[in-house]
Amino acid sequence: MTKIPFSPPDIREEDIERVVAVLRSGWITTGPETKAFERELSAYTGAAGTACLNSATAAMELCLRWLGVGPGDEVVTSAYTYTASASVVDHVGATIVLADTAPGDYLPTAADYAACVTPKTRAIIPVDVAGRMVDHAELMRLLGERRAGFEPRNARQEALGRVAVIADAAHSLGARLGGRMCGEIADFTCFSFHAVKNLTTAEGGAVCWNRAMDEAFPGLYQDMMLLSLHGQNKDALAKTRAGAWAYDIVEPAWKCNMTDIQAALGRSQLARYEELLERRHAILARYAAGLAGTRLELMPHPAGERERSSAHLAIYRLAGADEEERNRFIEDMGAAGIACNVHYQPLPLLAAYRALGFDAALYPHAMAAYRSEVTLPLHTLLSDADVERVVETAGRLAGPASRG
Ligand SMILES: *Cc1c(COP(=O)(O)O)cnc(C)c1O
Repeated sequence: MTKIPFSPPDIREEDIERVVAVLRSGWITTGPETKAFERELSAYTGAAGTACLNSATAAMELCLRWLGVGPGDEVVTSAYTYTASASVVDHVGATIVLADTAPGDYLPTAADYAACVTPKTRAIIPVDVAGRMVDHAELMRLLGERRAGFEPRNARQEALGRVAVIADAAHSLGARLGGRMCGEIADFTCFSFHAVKNLTTAEGGAVCWNRAMDEAFPGLYQDMMLLSLHGQNKDALAKTRAGAWAYDIVEPAWKCNMTDIQAALGRSQLARYEELLERRHAILARYAAGLAGTRLELMPHPAGERERSSAHLAIYRLAGADEEERNRFIEDMGAAGIACNVHYQPLPLLAAYRALGFDAALYPHAMAAYRSEVTLPLHTLLSDADVERVVETAGRLAGPASRG
């Protein structure tokens, strides 16, 4: 029996050829491919500007550093996410504040995030779990309403005039809400191109920003270049031009740029990305139809013009299950050759966050969502026969929904 992996990368011959072309070109680090990928991402997402980096984690961290967030400040994110959404807050020395999810859901709403704001809050990192967007526009509106209570600590914060929104869009490239693309709405939007994400560069990420940020901060792209490349005022490509050896270091900054090898892979994937999203939605639709009437309840993935999920994760609730039964379901799926997963263990369950004083009992909705959660495989290497096998096996193991 062949195994169905959870989320292998979809690498095609055309991807390999474009990566090999960069390897043969004589220029392999940040250069023309990366700059072209940035322009293509801006065009795709509607963002005013994009900087490609080595991860979404680096992207979120640079946004916090750019805003001057540090000790004494608070940053709010979700209790129901991967550690990176919160660890970046710790990296800059600020205090992590976790919002519980909405009852029965895997995401806090914009209002849930806004309710966590105090006079110390500098930024909110909403997480688009599974590719379904948090309402970034509504969150910015709610934060704008509270601008009177906002106490800026530096000129950038003052110019923004309210708590910043740094969207963790690691899952949500290609999602839309209110007819606008993920990337053009929030102050900052951070994408991941890690190997398991919808679009991959093996490791990689990008930060983009909206029109208002671009107009208020015309040096933003240059700022991101400095922050991500040692604070050096000339990048490697500019320095190699004949006679242009001199440079300055304007601050002792970080090192998290993207290479042209990665960018070539990303550009190749972006060229067929809409086709990949269509296939992901088709698989979700087949899951939804095939598992209707069983105990497995799919988290909704809108697929419309105004609202569209990026269909990153097939998050299911095994209705009525406790942790033990959920774990047994995943083991039985594994025994049948189908790799499943759990998204997520709420952060307060993890050792690092327990050590920071977080108590899972204070996040009852996230804990309830976690206990019965199962993620089925969802990727573009699944054949129609694989999809049928997942439906048949998962439906049989879950059993029918209880009536009444
Ligand atoms: C993958 C992921 C990240 C981190 O992305 P990297 O590119 O690996 O840094 C952040 N947040 C969420 C929700 C993720 O799933």
